[in-house]
Amino acid sequence: MKRVLAVASECVPLVKTGGLADVTGALPRAMAGTGWGVRTLIPGYRPVLAQAAKATEALSLGAFFGGPARILVLRHAGLDLLVLDAPHLFDRDGSPYLDAQGNDWADNDLRFAALCAAAARIAGGALDDWVPQVLHLHDWQAGLVPEYLAAQGTSLPVVMTIHNIAFHGLTTDDRIAALGLDPARFLPDGYEYYGHVSALKAGLVGADRITTVSPTYARELTTPEFGMGLDGMIRARQHLLTGILNGIDTDTWNPRKDPHIRRFQTPRGKAPNRKGLRAEFGLPDAPGPLAVVVSRLTAQKGLDLLLDAMPAFTGAGGQLALLGSGDRTLENAWLEAARDSDAVAVRIGYDETLAHRMFAGADAVLVPSRFEPCGLTQLYALRYGAVPVVARTGGLADTVIHANDAALRMGVATGMVHAPDDAAALAAALVDLCHLHASPEIWAHIQANGMRHPVGWEASSAQYGALYDALVS
Ligand code: ADP
Repeated sequence: MKRVLAVASECVPLVKTGGLADVTGALPRAMAGTGWGVRTLIPGYRPVLAQAAKATEALSLGAFFGGPARILVLRHAGLDLLVLDAPHLFDRDGSPYLDAQGNDWADNDLRFAALCAAAARIAGGALDDWVPQVLHLHDWQAGLVPEYLAAQGTSLPVVMTIHNIAFHGLTTDDRIAALGLDPARFLPDGYEYYGHVSALKAGLVGADRITTVSPTYARELTTPEFGMGLDGMIRARQHLLTGILNGIDTDTWNPRKDPHIRRFQTPRGKAPNRKGLRAEFGLPDAPGPLAVVVSRLTAQKGLDLLLDAMPAFTGAGGQLALLGSGDRTLENAWLEAARDSDAVAVRIGYDETLAHRMFAGADAVLVPSRFEPCGLTQLYALRYGAVPVVARTGGLADTVIHANDAALRMGVATGMVHAPDDAAALAAALVDLCHLHASPEIWAHIQANGMRHPVGWEASSAQYGALYDALVS
């Protein structure tokens, strides 16, 4: 097996706040067929340390970023994990990034710098029996790795994947010494970003190849509208950039085997799940479509636009069940919408098994994002015979085929696609959805197309394998 070290801040099934964890948890298994063995370095958060009985110490790092630290080797859920056990940085309650009050941990810069420095040590051969040939860095939390590689004189090919360019991992320049960075590289063509330290930029500057999680997002990143201030430097590196679509874990997300639902093989088998979902959310039985949203509640996801479009949807006979958490203003606005309408029901929170029941019971899954690097919930929708209704942006545009007349005639339609960032367009799409749903034959045809649509990792893992191969040849 050829060897790649992935570096990430979250990984299913141990720790997840979003799609990044789904990817870092599923991709390693998918890579096995390509001849590449992946080990993934993750922080030793509390839920990770709960597995420590199964782990063995591979390396002591001594005093490391303010406290004792070591690297553990852990085999868990089919994954080969390397765990940075540094209790002073990671052994705490709360989410990977936020304290109980919802604020960023004040030492996030140090925590993920430590992760990067540990990765560099492993890349430099600190684990006697395993030295990677390629490094694969995920998002800003892994971005400083090239800086530490350069400082210790290690040269290894680096792939940097952008899962969401909205997060830069910025910190102030007075932290350069504490982070152990080379002050001479605090430059526009180094890790400096408008007077701040940018971990994401460090990764992009130091990478031999840059990937992102869909071809459309790869194009969008080069534009001021989507590049979040980094479009210029991405344009300069466009020759290094490719978009490789995310897949989903088709074992975990398999309606035939899912332990959380009434299992089904064809769209007809969704009926008892739909009934159960309506009951669970207190929605009345109704002939119209039951749509769901499972999402972080942030401006990115366009759920404020959906609030505006709700009267048109419910007026046309639609119902909505929403599961999400995040922005307090949005949470309250949705709770109010649920109070005002019998056709809207809302759960504020994060609930993985409820998410499975929602995709299984839904007629439609709504993803009206303003931008969406890849998006996973529309892929779960396809797999579970729910019709995705998505904004034409990023990976949403790459994974759903709009049910216009031509696509319906050709038998390839899998969902509905509307103009992004436009409440009126979203409302019109939702009214169209109700009309389509009223034509059982056409509806069943779209569902069946969706369930056949390939959403696994086969094609994309081969692309990553080819990318790694090109770097070591
Ligand atoms: P992002 O990473 O931007 O949040 P993705 O669509 O790529 O968006 O991935 C989101 C992942 O998190 C999906 O697996 C989705 O089902 C899950 N998810 C988001 N919010 C919730 C929630 N409130 N409860 C359960 N799962 C959620």
